[in-house]
Amino acid sequence: TVRTRIAPSPTGDPHVGTAYIALFNLCFARQHGGQFILRIEDTDRQRSTAESEQMIFDSLRWLGLEWDEGPDVGGPHGPYRQSERGDIYAEHARRLLEAGHAFKCYRTSEELDELREARKAEGLHLALKPADLALPADEVARREAEGWPHVVRMQVPGEGTCVVNDMLRGDIEVDWAQVDAQILLKSDGMPTYHLANVVDDHLMAITHVLRGEEWINSAPKHQLLYEYFGWDMPVLCHMPLLRNPDKSKLSKRKNPTSINYYRRMGFLPQAVINYLGRMGWSMPDEREKFTLDEMMAHFDIQRVSLGGPVFDLEKLTWLNGVYIREDLDDAALLEALRDWAFNEAYVGRILPQVRPRIETLSDVMPLAGHFFAGLPRIDEHSFAEIKLERGELVKLLQFLIWRLEAVSRWDKESLLAEIKRLGEFFDLKMKVLLAPVFIAITGSATSTSVIDAMAILGSDVTRARLRHAVD
Ligand code: ATP
Ligand code: GLU
Repeated sequence: TVRTRIAPSPTGDPHVGTAYIALFNLCFARQHGGQFILRIEDTDRQRSTAESEQMIFDSLRWLGLEWDEGPDVGGPHGPYRQSERGDIYAEHARRLLEAGHAFKCYRTSEELDELREARKAEGLHLALKPADLALPADEVARREAEGWPHVVRMQVPGEGTCVVNDMLRGDIEVDWAQVDAQILLKSDGMPTYHLANVVDDHLMAITHVLRGEEWINSAPKHQLLYEYFGWDMPVLCHMPLLRNPDKSKLSKRKNPTSINYYRRMGFLPQAVINYLGRMGWSMPDEREKFTLDEMMAHFDIQRVSLGGPVFDLEKLTWLNGVYIREDLDDAALLEALRDWAFNEAYVGRILPQVRPRIETLSDVMPLAGHFFAGLPRIDEHSFAEIKLERGELVKLLQFLIWRLEAVSRWDKESLLAEIKRLGEFFDLKMKVLLAPVFIAITGSATSTSVIDAMAILGSDVTRARLRHAVD
């Protein structure tokens, strides 16, 4: 049976690219009567968080992309979280070492830098080959005896051509000279993506790997690992990457990339799925509007076109409007509003913000309307009362956007700390600093607490509003 998977890393907000790839994996599996698996690739212990993992589950479910096996639903090939599979990777690395397909490397980072510099000076490929990394046997023995940290790297051929097949692209040729002796186990014993990904795809009986184009360069290494282990390799299919309207890779600096953003802005899951389904793909009858079930029923991977599909917010917004007008009767629209923001959980977070500031219930909406809105209206008068000149104001907000991108725990305390740091940096009093932030976030100079608002609105809407204010 056909088995596909999505293998996101829980290191940030759930990416629309992840949903895009999940959609195609799901359709491919369903069309063949197969299974779709969710595996969490959390071997980067520094950057992986439980919140991010939960957001992946929530956002994929919101879109209706259900998996048959995964960390939260179980299955016969678990655990489905790589951090729980450490022994499996260690055992497989050991097998490669014993067979001579991998070697321990005791090179220090200074030595590696020197090696790279030397290659650069000679105008050679920067890939470090096993021969470049080799040390005299007695030196290896010394470092080993003294307990120096080491990594495990894979053997790779020094020359020749590697041919990898891709379902959409046919044969892809790569010079082995460009492929480095990839690290498989880091010095802390954790596997890298390459080892863990190959071992898991095999043990989870994955038959087809549909993933982003950005992984093509890894395919030769993966193919070689399958050979070393004596396993059949899944069929590979590298999907085109989503693009910004300027054709660059979709990135959060130019476009909101988090699924949460689209949810919070009030997009309907069926419209987002429909739009993602049209990214580099079309229905056999070319119709523009279709449901997930229809896409699954008519799916054909060969209809994927490789030219980078442009993820255009305006087109998505238009399509969303079509769905609201054509597909939602009053009852369904009410239901959608409830799911969006008019529910106890969300309103419950707003009430403590408004209670101290209202005298009648009718005061609520004028004060808290921005919690139920997208981007506030900003014009040349919006910042008229602010005692900062325009250039300074723009610089300030832009710095804030930039700093907020790096905030990993999105809560009131972290946000306050960020703003304080910014105030110190620009040598501005909190009040002066917060005034323009207030207007950018709430659209007005009088509203609920702005830091609380940012915490409740979430990172995507916050950043989008700040960006909107300086655009
Ligand atoms: P950004 O550039 O916005 O910071 P990123 O490249 O850091 O995003 P990652 O965290 O590396 O995003 O990727 C998350 C997942 O989304 C990965 O599985 C990746 O393949 C996928 N992805 C990222 N960008 C795109 C894209 N433009 N098109 C399709 N998938 C993408
Ligand atoms: N963990 C990788 C990612 O974040 C998985 C890539 C793959 O599908 O092989 O996209």
